Amino acid sequence: MAQVRCPYCHEYIDQAAYPAHEARNLAARPDGQQTEYATLPEEDREQGELAGLPKVYVHRKCGVATGMLEEIIRSYLMNPFLYTADATFCCGCGKHVPNRECVWTETGEDLQTYTDKLRAAMPETSPKGCLAASLIIGLVMSGAIAAAALG
Ligand SMILES: [Zn+2]
Ligand SMILES: [Zn+2]
Repeated sequence: MAQVRCPYCHEYIDQAAYPAHEARNLAARPDGQQTEYATLPEEDREQGELAGLPKVYVHRKCGVATGMLEEIIRSYLMNPFLYTADATFCCGCGKHVPNRECVWTETGEDLQTYTDKLRAAMPETSPKGCLAASLIIGLVMSGAIAAAALG
């Protein structure tokens, strides 16, 4: 049976079972965060030091600081088109809020400007239409091909 590589847990999942599996990953936890967030597989993430890069942001509307998960930082550094929702979780509000409303405590820059710069630095992956979505599908597909090669 065809398999896809789950962008949340990076396991190989039967295609037919994937929608239910994805729904479990996207389900909200009691604190409002998703159960899991999409990331790149560990081997594809940024492997270098994160020293000097912003990691904590404040939501301007509520003033509460939230730390960005390291696996997410290491994923968007390699593919800034992975998180096209352009929203991030705020611990103060208990929900996802627009990147534009959040600023890094380290640099004072808002998260949307930061993301846009990361994207502009990778023109070869700039979205044309829905390329961002197809990038994620491409990752899933390459996982499926790898699974086929293994099996
Ligand atoms: Zn999964
Ligand atoms: Zn907030």
